Amino acid sequence: MKQSELFTKTIKELPKDEESRNAQLLIKAGYIQKEMSGVYAFLPLGLKVLNKIIQIIREEMDSIGGQEISLSALQNPEIWQKTDRWSDKNVDAWFKTKLASGAEVGLGFTHEEPLTNIMRSYVQSYKDLPQYVYQFQTKFRNEARAKSGLMRTREFIMKDLYSFTVDQKALDEFYELAKEAYLKIFQRLGLGEKTFVTFASGGVFSKYSHEFQTECLAGEDTIYVDYEKKIAVNKEVYNDEVLAELGLDKEKLKTVKAIEVGNIFKLGTKFSEPLGLFYTDEAGNKKPVIMGCYGIGPARVLATIVELYNDEKGIVWPKSIAPFTAHLLCLGDDPEVKKQAESVYQSLIKEGIEVLFDDRIGLTAGEMFADADLVGLPYRLIVSKKNGDKIEIKERQSANSESLDLNQVIKKIKENV
Ligand code: ATP
Ligand code: MG
Repeated sequence: MKQSELFTKTIKELPKDEESRNAQLLIKAGYIQKEMSGVYAFLPLGLKVLNKIIQIIREEMDSIGGQEISLSALQNPEIWQKTDRWSDKNVDAWFKTKLASGAEVGLGFTHEEPLTNIMRSYVQSYKDLPQYVYQFQTKFRNEARAKSGLMRTREFIMKDLYSFTVDQKALDEFYELAKEAYLKIFQRLGLGEKTFVTFASGGVFSKYSHEFQTECLAGEDTIYVDYEKKIAVNKEVYNDEVLAELGLDKEKLKTVKAIEVGNIFKLGTKFSEPLGLFYTDEAGNKKPVIMGCYGIGPARVLATIVELYNDEKGIVWPKSIAPFTAHLLCLGDDPEVKKQAESVYQSLIKEGIEVLFDDRIGLTAGEMFADADLVGLPYRLIVSKKNGDKIEIKERQSANSESLDLNQVIKKIKENV
């Protein structure tokens, strides 16, 4: 993409009412726009990153048998009344609105109820199970506190997968598969080192649920980490009895701030029973379907990555999710240099390298460098009179650059993607 055609620009002034580092950087670099507290719009660069995160999650969900759907945001109160979750007393996060007729509808803050209801039409026998169904869909939550930029918003995309199985054993097996898939996702997103499977409180069906907590100073949560075992416990379950049961030594645990980037939960029959999702087993007995749910917030993940990967100059994207791999800068207004830059741009595209071409006129080299650092793409390539036929290549986080031929540049980028 040519930067002269991108409608967004970098912004010099920090938004005054924005306290969080992730939103400050993303707004300055033109990735997102703040609509109001806890509500953000994704602009071209921001959407590219979000979609890359979504695609990684999608691939891993498909690899464990997930089937993608898209449920509605508008919710029918009748279904939620069956589980007693329509009432504002029981759920404080609802956004509710009214139809022209005056009838109430809700904006979904999660989707156990409508999906369980849909599955009733398709699951009757043990032969119809297991099923693993997921979506990327906008949730609406009237969060009381929204001060952490994209980490806690009132409207956000969630990947929510729901498992439908015949019994506890089948649930347990899938649950472990999902846990592994989650670890793979966070690995691919560049968060592997700092993300811990964290024991959290469970429900009636299992003693614990698991959160995926990424260690980060900007985190809202506190967790207690065993770095050797690479697991943690959260505040809800941090007590002597639980630590003993998990074989954790209090002395060895480190207390750190963390961000909950995902969580998985064994639901059992909590939704299948009240909503009437039953199946007939091989012996002809009617049984409730056993469920689990598995969530990840792609925008919270994006915010976490920005919080962890930045410096005083801007964002430092991991390669797997950068909006473009290379930022090609054409310095000066010399027609020959411009021609050369255009030809480098075309060659990179031909090689399948995603490149943002800063072809804007009238900018100083310093302004272009500052923008490139703020936007944070993995490689900065410079074509200039000074460099002649060579291209100056520098990795975002590195202080050193080298001058290479086009072919060497292509080779270097492709080797490291
Ligand atoms: P928290 O305790 O942080 O409020 P939660 O327990 O409400 O999270 P879930 O309802 O299980 O979270 O949602 C699944 C995932 O969706 C979370 O792990 C997180 O990544 C993301 N998420 C939840 N709430 C928000 C929000 N307000 N803004 C952005 N992402 C969110
Ligand atoms: Mg919440």
